[in-house]
Amino acid sequence: MNIKIKALVLFSGGQDSATCLAWALSRFDHVETVGFDYEQRHMVEMQCRMDVLAHIKAEFPQWAPKMGKDHIIDIPALGGISETSLTRDIDIDDTGDGLPNTFVPGRNLIFLNFAAAVAYNRGITQLVAGMCEADFSGYPDCRKETLDAAMKAINLGMDADYSLSTPLMHLSKAGAWKLAEDLGGKALVDLIVQKSHTCYTGERGDLHAWGHGCGACPACELRANGWANYVTGTFNR
Ligand code: ZN
Repeated sequence: MNIKIKALVLFSGGQDSATCLAWALSRFDHVETVGFDYEQRHMVEMQCRMDVLAHIKAEFPQWAPKMGKDHIIDIPALGGISETSLTRDIDIDDTGDGLPNTFVPGRNLIFLNFAAAVAYNRGITQLVAGMCEADFSGYPDCRKETLDAAMKAINLGMDADYSLSTPLMHLSKAGAWKLAEDLGGKALVDLIVQKSHTCYTGERGDLHAWGHGCGACPACELRANGWANYVTGTFNR
């Protein structure tokens, strides 16, 4: 019997989740996506995720037939309770406790629960997400230990057997670019450079070698540094 494996990718439209989407498409038979709208200051992100999906579908005929439903979950409450620069019009700054104030507390835990609920209704047990332990800001909800505990609770609470894949967990940002190249060659790297969105200010602006963005915020700096290391073949940072 030919069992088709279905996956659900947590897909924001950024570099990391776009790479995870390609990773899932290269492995699984049917891939759906879920995005979260929580009144981000920058609706540009929601537009970029649609562009990435459309371009992957158009440019990768081997993957297009596997691409299933795209789900958008509205979580306005998350914007309402978060005093952060992603959702409020304040400057990006360090909060003094080691985390940048772009941090939305527990955001990934909330996303995982919603994603699992979507997967439950779609008969999907494989979740894929772009959390990365090497991430610059040390977000505690990106740690593997956090995610393992969350999945245990979700599986208990939904009487389910989900598994969560995090293909970027131990990669540097340069390593993430290299993974995209390995999965879809230069065409995929170019697509992610041009269509994905990372900048915190929501600025598309000029197209730099590493993509669009203001070039000055922490997210742009991280992306640009990762790109520079990718270009020079420095994958360990
Ligand atoms: Zn920026």
